[in-house]
Amino acid sequence: MLSEENNRRGKKKKGHPFFWGILEIFSLSVMFVAGVLAVREAEGRGENSLNRHPLIAIVGVADSFLADQEVLAATKPVGDTQNTEQKAEEKEEDTPEKAPEEPKEDGEDLEEAGEDEEIFDGPVIALTFDDGPFTAVTNRILDVLMEYDAGATFFVVGSRIEMYSDTLKRIYENGFEVANHTWSHKNLDKLADEEIEKEIGDTEDMLNKYIPVENILLRPPYGSANETVRALAGTSLINWSLDSQDWKSRDADKIIRHVLDTVQDGDIILMHDLYDCTAEAVESLVPELIERGYRLVSVSELFRTKKIPLEKGILYRKPGDHY
Ligand code: ZN
Repeated sequence: MLSEENNRRGKKKKGHPFFWGILEIFSLSVMFVAGVLAVREAEGRGENSLNRHPLIAIVGVADSFLADQEVLAATKPVGDTQNTEQKAEEKEEDTPEKAPEEPKEDGEDLEEAGEDEEIFDGPVIALTFDDGPFTAVTNRILDVLMEYDAGATFFVVGSRIEMYSDTLKRIYENGFEVANHTWSHKNLDKLADEEIEKEIGDTEDMLNKYIPVENILLRPPYGSANETVRALAGTSLINWSLDSQDWKSRDADKIIRHVLDTVQDGDIILMHDLYDCTAEAVESLVPELIERGYRLVSVSELFRTKKIPLEKGILYRKPGDHY
């Protein structure tokens, strides 16, 4: 059928040269009009005079069109769509911007994403509290954090959750990050594979009885996580870069002095919501650190702020320092 059709067309062409001549003149006219329109389009976009040559302008318009198709083809806004978005922005000022739905890794997109992630240029640190919950101390710490609108991460021990579930819920419901510190605080390096998985999994299951959590961060007890532990963790592992030594000094003044003398931007600070001295230290440290220009956030927010993606099976001391 097709070849028959082509033959007929071929015969037609041979048979009616006048018709084809008219068609060619018409085609050239269309190209000329397209060229003029493209020059206007290029001028409207404020492009340089080179692009005002009709043929180059036609190519330019075609390029814009292709860039738009690329953007339309990118169905998922999250991912590496930045280049095509930029291209489209440069070429089509009238087209409404296709803003990403979720904040991405780089600064420009964070700005586009807008309200929920504000840009903060000053130093940022994460306060972390291990071995709780323990109502008497945890509540004092929560009170001061909430008073100063500070964030923090609580690495809870699974076996304590049931007894202190009200405190756990208070942590979660006030927007603090809840993370895993294993079921019974054993050194994971010394356990068999199944025991490691049980220490981590049982804690997550117990947490889920009270609050919804998934793929939460893990702090291995004693900061010990060999290759096997890291491979089995199934999540990112978080140690610390500044040990408040509350467990050693048990003295609020010493904790305060040690933290203020050594704190640096990006630090993850280790503390324990077990001791009264820790709560006492936090009551002074939080306003003092804020006064010194620090922003206090959870571990996850610290990594987001520093634009370092948290990867599974990696043990971090702080953003940019891992093993
Ligand atoms: Zn611990």
